[in-house]
Amino acid sequence: MEFDSSRRKFLQAGLVLPAAGFIATHHPDVFGQAPSGVVYRTLGKTGLKVSGVGCGIGLIPDPAVLVRAVDLGVNYFDTARMYEKGKSEEIAGAALKGRRNRIVLASKTDALTKADVFKDMDDSLKALQTDHLDVWHLHSRDTPDMITDEAVEACEMLKKQGKTRFIGVSAHDIYAVVDKIIQVGKFDVVQTTYSYPIGSHLRNASVKKLHDAGIGVVAMKVIIAVAGFIPPKELRLKNEGPLAAIKWVLMNPMISTTVPFAKNTAELEMNFRAMTEPYTTQDEKMLYTRNEEIRPDYCRMCYECKGKCPKGVPVTDELRYLAYSDFGGDLRQARRNFMHLPKEIRAVRCSDCSACVIQCPNGVEVQNRLIRAQELLA
Ligand code: SF4
Ligand code: SF4
Repeated sequence: MEFDSSRRKFLQAGLVLPAAGFIATHHPDVFGQAPSGVVYRTLGKTGLKVSGVGCGIGLIPDPAVLVRAVDLGVNYFDTARMYEKGKSEEIAGAALKGRRNRIVLASKTDALTKADVFKDMDDSLKALQTDHLDVWHLHSRDTPDMITDEAVEACEMLKKQGKTRFIGVSAHDIYAVVDKIIQVGKFDVVQTTYSYPIGSHLRNASVKKLHDAGIGVVAMKVIIAVAGFIPPKELRLKNEGPLAAIKWVLMNPMISTTVPFAKNTAELEMNFRAMTEPYTTQDEKMLYTRNEEIRPDYCRMCYECKGKCPKGVPVTDELRYLAYSDFGGDLRQARRNFMHLPKEIRAVRCSDCSACVIQCPNGVEVQNRLIRAQELLA
């Protein structure tokens, strides 16, 4: 597989250093005294010092996890306006009240028009109980035309108004939008999928382009594939796969931070260890084994099959939604995302095809997985 060589390089380097140690420095002066074990990295040209392990505020976060994260010294927090229709931001706002000056806070908008971007920002600030964000992302922009001139202009205006310090883009199909992001020349941060199973040569090339342009890179979907909701059903805390997965990502010095979701403080504390523990041969074996176990089931988001289905099925999107359920354990989110697809696309049934035209180079059993997605989510 093409990503084997990059894994090997990381492994060779990582065995002799703590996972987060490549370019990391301790910055006790930035947010007060640096708590023990936290390693900060610079978020591109923003100059912000962010903890290598951040905190994803997905869906319904546990307030105790957010509070504990701040106490540990984790300082990068990421949410989105659309998560649970604003409920995630509300919970985070209440939990982080009084701690705002100790964290770097990011949220995202799905809006395409100027008016909607402004409205989302005002709603986010209110829900998060703050007068500004540190990073405001255009959310889930997987085609260049989703990065609209209007939305970019609105973000710039919000930056001038002081409602956000920096602006960014989040994208799954980074290959499709990386050049547009750089060409627009306005963005400070990009958040994208990056993990052991999907960390390919091509994805590394996109990350390098962003890094070379001075854009801070935040890795998402770092642990979902190894969390273990599908057979074999190892418990997260038992297999320590998520810890190894974060360590693997942090060996890439071009990644500034990660935003894994923790359901409880025990998971958070395990994620935290990725900043100080070395990536070991045992970690590599664990991730390699897990990656092979999930090979037929987990889409690597390489987008090689994009546009190939004659019936217009957005294969990567449907498989990503299925992963929210099968790997992330969140059927509600999976269904909600699926229901945002156009009606005529939701009506397509892969079970009606005698054979699928798509041969996945990563070994995903595309038709079987799509049949499952449509049965479960439609
Ligand atoms: S199904 Fe396969 S080819 Fe299509 S995006 Fe996923 S990993 Fe790539
Ligand atoms: S099974 Fe048929 S409808 Fe489904 S993705 Fe493959 S070609 Fe498209």
